[in-house]
Amino acid sequence: MPKRFDTKTAIVTGAGSGIGAAIARQLAAEGATVILADLDEPGAEAIAKEIRAKGGTAHVRTVDTSGAAQVESLMEFAKSTCGGLHLLVNNAGIGGPANVTGEYPLDGWHKVMDVNLNGVFYGLRYGLPLIEASGGGAVVNMASILGTVGFQTACAYTAAKHAVVGLTKVAGMEYAKRGIRINAVGPGFIATPLLEKNLDKAALEGIAQMHPIGRLGTAEEVSALTCFLLSDAASFITASYHLVDGGYTAQ
Ligand code: NAP
Repeated sequence: MPKRFDTKTAIVTGAGSGIGAAIARQLAAEGATVILADLDEPGAEAIAKEIRAKGGTAHVRTVDTSGAAQVESLMEFAKSTCGGLHLLVNNAGIGGPANVTGEYPLDGWHKVMDVNLNGVFYGLRYGLPLIEASGGGAVVNMASILGTVGFQTACAYTAAKHAVVGLTKVAGMEYAKRGIRINAVGPGFIATPLLEKNLDKAALEGIAQMHPIGRLGTAEEVSALTCFLLSDAASFITASYHLVDGGYTAQ
């Protein structure tokens, strides 16, 4: 029985943990050859091993997405090893420091912008020509609910995620007639190491209750939306931003 991503090659950045790992697992289970790109090589290798054990095809590249040359060479790897690229998930991201804007550390600001915004731009800058040359495909940029609302003490993260939504709209329009759909996904708070390593149990419970649905989301729930947007079932959806947030932004 054919699977919906058979014959497709996908890159998922930040695939060694959390949301990226769930997306890589789902894409591979549904037939894609997946390139897992992450700073955390052991983390990405562990997910790739799981994928291969289930009969999927996975490659691992150690990449810092905040470096343009590294992202360019990631795309060259896709071309030389897999013959091209069809699906790209610009997912790698960091939380950054927590502080009010008037006291926000400059190095933290630049680091968050480098990874959460510039890294997404580099993915588009070097990925779009390759996807176009490979016959077209789809891109998802991982934004956040903080691409639409603010969160005190998170000025850099919020600004970067708002910018990712804007970048997605522009690139999506530019490539709409060129065979590439480009969308952004906005998760609410999701139970992943990004959250769990920064917050204790009581803080996590408090955050869970900020969602009308009364809990944190799962990486698999974000993956389900992402893979839908990457699939042909989403053929009329481009240049737009899609929430998976348990009702958070409706308040
Ligand atoms: P995570 O569990 O921390 O996973 C992120 C992965 O990306 C980690 O393996 C991390 O490696 C890697 N990474 C970090 N910086 C990188 C870089 N410069 N180049 C390549 N890889 C890098 O985080 P997550 O919760 O799955 O988050 C994934 C995405 O979803 C992020 O863009 C995040 O902003 C977004 N998001 C998350 C939530 C949430 O509540 N979890 C909500 C909304 C949006 P290291 O571990 O070595 O840093």
